[in-house]
Amino acid sequence: MSSVKPFAIKPGGVIGIIGGGQLGRMLAMAAARLGLKSCIYNDGADAPAFQVTPLQVNAPYTDRTLLTGFAQSCDVITFEFENLPAEELSYLASLKAMRPGPKALSTTQDRLSEKQFVRGLGLLTAPFAEVGTAKDAALALAEMGGHGILKTRRFGYDGKGQAKVQSGEEAAKAFTAFKGAPAILEGFVDFAFEASVVAARGADGAFAAYDPPENIHENHILRRSIVPSRLTAAQAEEAKQIARAIADALDYVGVLAVELFVTSDGRLLVNEIAPRVHNSGHWTIEACACSQFEQHIRAVAGWPLGDPTRHADAVMENIIGAEADAWESLARAGALHLYGKREARLGRKMGHVTRLRPKS
Ligand code: AMP
Repeated sequence: MSSVKPFAIKPGGVIGIIGGGQLGRMLAMAAARLGLKSCIYNDGADAPAFQVTPLQVNAPYTDRTLLTGFAQSCDVITFEFENLPAEELSYLASLKAMRPGPKALSTTQDRLSEKQFVRGLGLLTAPFAEVGTAKDAALALAEMGGHGILKTRRFGYDGKGQAKVQSGEEAAKAFTAFKGAPAILEGFVDFAFEASVVAARGADGAFAAYDPPENIHENHILRRSIVPSRLTAAQAEEAKQIARAIADALDYVGVLAVELFVTSDGRLLVNEIAPRVHNSGHWTIEACACSQFEQHIRAVAGWPLGDPTRHADAVMENIIGAEADAWESLARAGALHLYGKREARLGRKMGHVTRLRPKS
């Protein structure tokens, strides 16, 4: 049983969303379909989510006055961007119901506490070691067999704050390049492929998981997600149970994603937990009865979870940087989503396109 006190937000209520990127935009669009309003809080005026709802706050994530006004104008607070400072998180949580709660966010914000938490549940991860000095980095690499990835503990995404290292010297240099930021060293996993599981837990403890997609990354950025994946039926079920164990242990409310490495001998290693809707779940908009975005809104609003059943095979491809210039041909390629970003910077996610096929 969940310890979260269930409450339901009625149509017309306001979901407060921290972060105004494409995830916030798609959450707000899903909320609108259910007759719920969204208020977006973003630290910058040029936010994709600001284009789809009139309720918005443009202010730093540390502005207590505006955070207070934001909290007062919402019925519940949720996130599309989870890297808020811990003090601001607990401040917001003291003002308004927050789903997922501060525990889920603080556990997953730090790669070290995240990995320790995952191991504590009896789940598998890559080997890892805490790194606080350049010397630690070099020593840890030797323990990992001389091949690893140094990652800053906080604020990394899309490969930022990461360096592949293959000698003690490289490991020490990478740590110095991170300007002494606390880090972990992970042993390099020679995985067969990557997958993820996107799942939801309701305020009443109900659980619903989507079919786990296979994910292909290029330059540390998700290139495409494919369902069905190469996971066996037993592995797909195991992936869902991993997500369930994590969600239950965090008393989680909302959608979360668990990124997995699949080894050639069939093991599933947890790489990372994202306490929010996830890029590898975008295909659910067209291929499922209830998308990950609607599912998250349902969960945080205290509504019954929707049906995650997949009714088609799907390939979701990200549109990155200048690729968005080809919008005309992309519009012919499948279900096109453009996020309304003005500037097509290198490596920036501009949109995605989902192609469906009849379910195999
Ligand atoms: P992350 O930011 O931790 O999700 O890492 C981004 C990507 O880097 C992953 O999706 C993998 O493709 C790769 N990667 C991260 N950690 C490891 C590891 N320990 N071994 C091999 N590849 C990794």
